[in-house]
Amino acid sequence: MNSAGNTLITEEAIRSRVNELGAEIARDYAGGRPVLVGVLNGALVFMADLMRAIDLPLEYYAVAASSYAGTESTGSVEIIKPLDADVSGRDVIVVEDIVDTGITLDRLLQDLRAAQPASIAVCTLLNKPSRRVVDVSIKYVGFEIPNEFVVGYGLDYNQQYRNLPYVATLAPEQDGQHRQDG
Ligand code: 5GP
Repeated sequence: MNSAGNTLITEEAIRSRVNELGAEIARDYAGGRPVLVGVLNGALVFMADLMRAIDLPLEYYAVAASSYAGTESTGSVEIIKPLDADVSGRDVIVVEDIVDTGITLDRLLQDLRAAQPASIAVCTLLNKPSRRVVDVSIKYVGFEIPNEFVVGYGLDYNQQYRNLPYVATLAPEQDGQHRQDG
């Protein structure tokens, strides 16, 4: 059976918040054509829903980073798939599943800034501010969550649970040290 521990954020709450974020982004970028840059693999599900909630012409690209071992960040970020699009002069919105220490996002933002976009904003479904070690500025946050390891709605544990339609904490016996890829 594909289930996790306790539900932290229900499917309905996610849907409603994603629609709000989409409407907010559409208002903020009205008349423009933002470039969404989704961070695989975790942001895939959020990205798919968010982009359909933004009533604007837009472009979407994916990058992939790996930075996480088990429930503790390793602090080293590997860019597995770099951005293969020219975003110079464009309004870029980075779409993340979760910002934890901020190390992954910081590294991605450094790379993106080098591409000289007109602007960069970050939209994350989940934010764990208590774990931050690098100061990153996040414009759009779906939900602030406590310092717990969560799965579902794109987030995995050992590549499992990404397809849960809600966000849940892991049951204690499922916790452990395994590699997590963005
Ligand atoms: P950071 O570099 O901010 O510490 O970590 C960001 C990445 O770590 C996220 O994109 C995600 O892949 C992973 N991560 C951080 N916290 C969690 C969590 O609670 N659950 C899962 N499944 N992944 C997490």
